[in-house]
Amino acid sequence: MSEVGEDSGFLDVWADFGDDLPDPPAKRPVCDKCLRPSTACWCPYLPREPLSVHTTIYILQHPFEERKRSLQTGIMLKNGLAPGKCRILQGKRFSLKRYVRLNTTIIDANLCLKRYPELESVIANPNTILVFPGPKALDLNDYAETCRSDQNVNLIMLDGTWAQAKGIYNKSPFLHHLTQVQLSGTGLSEYVIRTQPNDSSLSTLETAAIALSAIEKSPTIRETLVRPLRAMCDFQIKHGAVRHQSKQYLIDNGLYKSRNDRNKITSAKS
Ligand SMILES: [Zn+2]
Repeated sequence: MSEVGEDSGFLDVWADFGDDLPDPPAKRPVCDKCLRPSTACWCPYLPREPLSVHTTIYILQHPFEERKRSLQTGIMLKNGLAPGKCRILQGKRFSLKRYVRLNTTIIDANLCLKRYPELESVIANPNTILVFPGPKALDLNDYAETCRSDQNVNLIMLDGTWAQAKGIYNKSPFLHHLTQVQLSGTGLSEYVIRTQPNDSSLSTLETAAIALSAIEKSPTIRETLVRPLRAMCDFQIKHGAVRHQSKQYLIDNGLYKSRNDRNKITSAKS
């Protein structure tokens, strides 16, 4: 993880997910809400009533991320918030239909307007921000201080590995015109059964929960929204999953094995 945001205190999902646990076999009983096996359902840890917030979150998700749907944290976010407050839109780029006016500049909106027509009004809204690290990104807390607690902010996040998220950003020029924010000083991710890129990387759920708490000026939002994530990790660890160090930690300590190295070890054992 790299040029953008190495020290940003952000983020996310752009991890090396090669060592993920697989989705459950299709024939096992599966909860139709969280898509986990019924025995591992985290739904009881969702808020009793989905949280009503002023902010609306748009997750632009790389389609490959959907394949690991039962381990996604975006679905925890969607189920934890009131209907319509978390929209998950899939695509590798959000592109190329027509031009729109944003403030005083005509820009190439590069939207999938047919699939996601709502994005047109979202990107034209001055209260729409992009959570993505970079040199021009504001600190989230500084941005949040400028917001009223009842302000209707649209918060766009990119979901995928770091390379996938960066690809979406690069191929969707309208994102470059939005106010950009990044998180800092957030501590370690609680998504301990996945390898994060570095010790400041967070899952989609955690990133959104922190951003919502700051913008809505309500610290309890973060605590409430991450409960299902903790429950899922606790369950997996009790059933044999191991806690992962970040990829950067493993590299710094000479412990990181690339996918090729892991394949070599596996073939040597067989
Ligand atoms: Zn469930």
